[in-house]
Amino acid sequence: MTLWFVRGLRRGVVTTRYPARPEESSAFLPTPPAFRPRALTPVTAGRLAETCPSGALQVVTGERGGDVLAFDVGRCTACGRCAAEAPHAVTPSGAFELAATTRSVLIKTIPLRGEER
Ligand code: SF4
Repeated sequence: MTLWFVRGLRRGVVTTRYPARPEESSAFLPTPPAFRPRALTPVTAGRLAETCPSGALQVVTGERGGDVLAFDVGRCTACGRCAAEAPHAVTPSGAFELAATTRSVLIKTIPLRGEER
């Protein structure tokens, strides 16, 4: 304890001003994925759903009848496996302020607009 106190005095106060100021270290945080609908095909979406270890991704029938990728941000651990599986269709979002008061807000539906080749 004393060691940490002395170290703190020597280095000055090390703290953060977040949320009043942007947190600089946020650039280095793993963040949930962002999807490119035009690069997502049903096959790619199926592969992503199989890859996701937490069940955050599922291919489901959308409101208009076609398949969509359902992304449950609340289940996502930002492991990055989906981005590694399909880097052309998935990138880290850079978003980490994800709190919500309603569970359903965390579930996104992403249209599959890509064409099979
Ligand atoms: S980052 Fe990991 S947990 Fe999140 S959706 Fe992708 S595979 Fe699933």
